[in-house]
Amino acid sequence: MSIKNFCKSLPKVELHAHLNGSLSPDTLKKLYKMQNPTSEDCENIVMSTEKYSSLGECFKVFDVAHSLTVTPEAVFQSTYDVIKEFQEDNVIYLELRSTPRAINGQMTKQEYIEAIIKAFQVCKTDFPDIMVKLLISINRKQGYKAAEENIQLAIHYFKKYPQCVVGLDLSGDPMAGDAFLELLKKARNAGLKIAAHCAEISNEIETKDILEFKPDRLGHCTCIHPNLQGSDKLFDMLIKSKIPVELCLTSNVQCKTVPSYGSHQFKYLYEAGHPISLCTDDKGVFHTSLSKEYELASSTFDLGREELVKLCMLSVQYAFTTEEEKKLLLSRIEDFNHESKF
Ligand SMILES: [Zn+2]
Repeated sequence: MSIKNFCKSLPKVELHAHLNGSLSPDTLKKLYKMQNPTSEDCENIVMSTEKYSSLGECFKVFDVAHSLTVTPEAVFQSTYDVIKEFQEDNVIYLELRSTPRAINGQMTKQEYIEAIIKAFQVCKTDFPDIMVKLLISINRKQGYKAAEENIQLAIHYFKKYPQCVVGLDLSGDPMAGDAFLELLKKARNAGLKIAAHCAEISNEIETKDILEFKPDRLGHCTCIHPNLQGSDKLFDMLIKSKIPVELCLTSNVQCKTVPSYGSHQFKYLYEAGHPISLCTDDKGVFHTSLSKEYELASSTFDLGREELVKLCMLSVQYAFTTEEEKKLLLSRIEDFNHESKF
C-alpha cells in the first residue's frame, strides 16, 4: 500500500474543523444554487475563494461561505455535506466548530445550532461510520455581548444534547478583540470542554493568560517557538502545561503564519513528546483533507506508518468524548493497524 493510500485508509480523528471553512467547492456551488436558483454565476463565486496570500485574506474567504449559509436549510446542507466528505476520507471521529449566527428575518442563533444538530442526527443513520460532536465558537471580533450570548447557548444545548454539544471554542481574527477568559470560565464550570486558538500572532501577554487558564486543548500555537526570541519561555510553559495542541500544517503555511512545512511548530512539539493532533482547520478554504495532512507530516518530518498510527491513537485521548466512545475509536484504529500489516 502506498503511503498516500495508507493515510487515506487510516481511520482518523479530526479535532479542529470550522464548519464554514470546511465547505467544499461542490457544496458552495450547491448553496449558491439554493440561494440563487436562476443565476448562472456560481463558478465565479467559487473561483473567488481560491486566491489569497495572507492571514487577513484567508479570513475574507469565509465571507463567501457566510453569505451562503444564511438559512437553517443551508446550514443543514453544509453540515450534512461536510460530515459526508470527512467520512469519505475515513475520518471516524469529527469535532466540528461553528459560531452561531442570526440573520435578520431568516434565522436565529438557536435555529442555526438546531440545524447543525438536526444534520448530526440524520448523518447518524446516513453515515454510521463517523461520530460527530459540536463545539460552539466565540468569534473574538464580535465582542463581549455576542460571546456571552454564545456561551449561554452552548450551556443550554450542552444540557439538552450532551451527546452532540461538547465544548466551546475561542476563535476568530486574533488581531481583533478580547480572549474572554472570564466568560470561558462560566462555560467550563457548566461542564463544557474548552478549545482555544492560541498564539496565532505574537502576543506574549495574551498567550500567557490563555496558558494559565489551561484550556482542554489549544489551536495552532504558531508563535510559541523554542528558537524565537522572547517566545522560548512560553514554549517551556506550554511543554510543562501538557495541554494538547491541534496542529494544522497546510492552513498555517497557506496563511503564511509559518514560512514553510519544514519549519512548522509540529517539529518542536513532536520532538518534545508534547501531545499533538493533526487537523485540517478549514479543508475547503485550504483545499486539503485530513489524509493529506497525515501524508504531509509523514513526508516533511519523516514519520513512518507506525508513528502515524500512534499519532492518530493519541488524538483519540484528546477528543471531547466519553471513555466508552474512545475505546470504540481505538479498537477501530487497532483493527486497521493489524490488517494493514498483512
Ligand atoms: Zn481554527
